Amino acid sequence: MKAMVLRGFYEIEVPGEPRRHPELPPTLEPLELVEVPVPEPGPGQVLIKISACGVCHTEIDEIEGRRKPKIPVIPGHQAVGRIVKTGGGVRRVKVGDRVGVAWIGWACGSCTYCVSGLENLCENFKATGCDLDGCYAEYMVAYEDYVYSIPENYEDTEAAPLLCGGAIGYRALKLANVKDGMTIGLAGFGASAHQIIQVIKYLYPNSKVIVLTRSREHIELAKELGADWAGSPLENPPEKLDRAIDFTPVGETIPRAMELLKPGGRLVVNVIRKRTPINLEYTKHLWMEKEIKTVANITRNDIKEYLEIARKKKIKINYQTYKLEEANKALRLLKQGKIKGAAVLIPPKAHKGLNPAV
Ligand SMILES: [Zn+2]
Ligand SMILES: [Zn+2]
Repeated sequence: MKAMVLRGFYEIEVPGEPRRHPELPPTLEPLELVEVPVPEPGPGQVLIKISACGVCHTEIDEIEGRRKPKIPVIPGHQAVGRIVKTGGGVRRVKVGDRVGVAWIGWACGSCTYCVSGLENLCENFKATGCDLDGCYAEYMVAYEDYVYSIPENYEDTEAAPLLCGGAIGYRALKLANVKDGMTIGLAGFGASAHQIIQVIKYLYPNSKVIVLTRSREHIELAKELGADWAGSPLENPPEKLDRAIDFTPVGETIPRAMELLKPGGRLVVNVIRKRTPINLEYTKHLWMEKEIKTVANITRNDIKEYLEIARKKKIKINYQTYKLEEANKALRLLKQGKIKGAAVLIPPKAHKGLNPAV
């Protein structure tokens, strides 16, 4: 099968931007297109023929060594495809099922976090496309306990961004403890935030959403999707925020969001790793009982709940498709903030359309 493989650590070159990792070799093409054997599903695993694979900022973190994967690795953790073979003891799913795979590919099942449904905090969990091979390929294996049924109202390509961007944004929203009528700020407006604004408007119809983003295109998209105000993080929005969720890969947005919070407000940081430092001053940013909470990974329950919301209320997914072999280009554009919505990779000979069965 064809796969895009990462064999070392590199800094993805962005024309006109300063180097941040001079210790790493710069490259435009960190992933290599290779021909490798189709993997065999082991006990409890299934083999999936992939039809769509979402592109995530985490892949950039892996390539640049902020979240170190096994090497070599096939990255990618937002897969939609069909089960074509099952390993020993598989009971929950069968050949022909349309399923999705997300970031957590396996967790221990016995630690205090796992037994309380918080496998996102399990110290030994294995991440898809990082500790385990992922979906920048034509096929992948996944554990049956970590695959999800995809809502029938979504095509494969538009469903892929639900599995990480959407689901982790939904976890951030749950942790924000929003009440209807609140004013919620979203900093950054990419794959995750453009879904979450729609979820906020659906679950909390009397809430106001303020979007802060540097990109003109993202400001336009935010307004199209119902933002009550959208503008640059340097501008002052018309009102202060009860809650804020930070979706950006940079550190500067954290103090800015804290400044904009009302007393007693809460910021949830939805990004695992920041490319630039976070400078907080106690009096200016934290005083007045303001809180910061971080989101780590996603539980299976978050994903199931989020897919159920998407089943009931179709979340409009803005996405651009690229061929699997164009993964390096998609990653460069994502790093530059030039993807409107989400980027999705399509492997050669992928299934197309809505048909949920083979
Ligand atoms: Zn992701
Ligand atoms: Zn565990």
